[in-house]
Amino acid sequence: MKNITRMSGPLILSIQYASLFITIAGAFFVSWTFSWILVALLFFYLYSAIGVSMMLHRYFSHKSFEFKNPILKWIFTGISIISSRGSPIAWVHIHREHHAYPDTDRDPHKPGKFSLFSFRTTYIKELKLFLIKDVLTKEQKFIHEYYLLFILAWCISLLLINPLLFYFAWALPVCLNQIAQDLWNYFSHVNVGYRNFETKDNSRNVTWLWPLILGESWHNNHHNAPSITTKVKKWEFDPINYIIGLVNK
Ligand SMILES: [Zn+2]
Ligand SMILES: [Zn+2]
Repeated sequence: MKNITRMSGPLILSIQYASLFITIAGAFFVSWTFSWILVALLFFYLYSAIGVSMMLHRYFSHKSFEFKNPILKWIFTGISIISSRGSPIAWVHIHREHHAYPDTDRDPHKPGKFSLFSFRTTYIKELKLFLIKDVLTKEQKFIHEYYLLFILAWCISLLLINPLLFYFAWALPVCLNQIAQDLWNYFSHVNVGYRNFETKDNSRNVTWLWPLILGESWHNNHHNAPSITTKVKKWEFDPINYIIGLVNK
C-alpha cells in the first residue's frame, strides 16, 4: 500500500484546490439557474451529511452503527468516496487523532487557528497504525490506494453526462463542503456556542453551524460520548441519526 501520509494531505488538498479553482473559473461560464443551484445544494448535503457525517465520521471513525444490508453499506461507502474528503483510512486517522489529543499540539486541527483550504487539517504528520488497525481491511486498502482514480472516474462520468453536472454536482458542492468543514473544525473548538458537558477539551455546540453541518454542530455532545446521534437536548435536532435509522430499517 502506498504511504498513508503521502496519500493524505497533499492528495486531499489537491482535490480541494481543484474544486476551488474550477468553482471560481467556471462561475463565469455556467448558467446559474434555480434548478442547477438546487442540484448543487442536494450534492452539498449528500457529500457533507451522508459522505462525511454519516459515513466517514459516525460509521468509519466511531463505529457508531452497522449496516443490516451489505449492499447498502457499499453504496454509502461509494458516497463517502465521491465526497472527495479523502479515503476512509486517511479520514479516520486524522479524526481519531483529533479525539485522542483534542486541543493540544498533537491535534491535527490545530485548535484556535482558523484558515480555509489549509494543508494542516488534512495532513497525517506521523503514521499511527494503532489508530486505524480496524479499518485496514483489504477493501479499504484498495480504496485508499486508488482513491484519486475513484474521484477522477466520478468527475469524468459527470462531465460526460453533462459538463454542467460536473460543475454543480462536484466542483461547487465539494468546494462549499471544504469551507463548511473548515468552519466546523474551527468554531466547534473555540469560545463560541455552549457546552452541555465539561469535557477535557474545549468542544462546543454551535447552533449557527447547523444549516451547514446539521447534527454535527452539537460537537460538545459528540466529544462527551461519540455515538449514533449527537442529540442530547430536546431541540438539538440531528437528522443524520434519522437517515441512519431509515437506511437500516
Ligand atoms: Zn468524532
Ligand atoms: Zn472536536
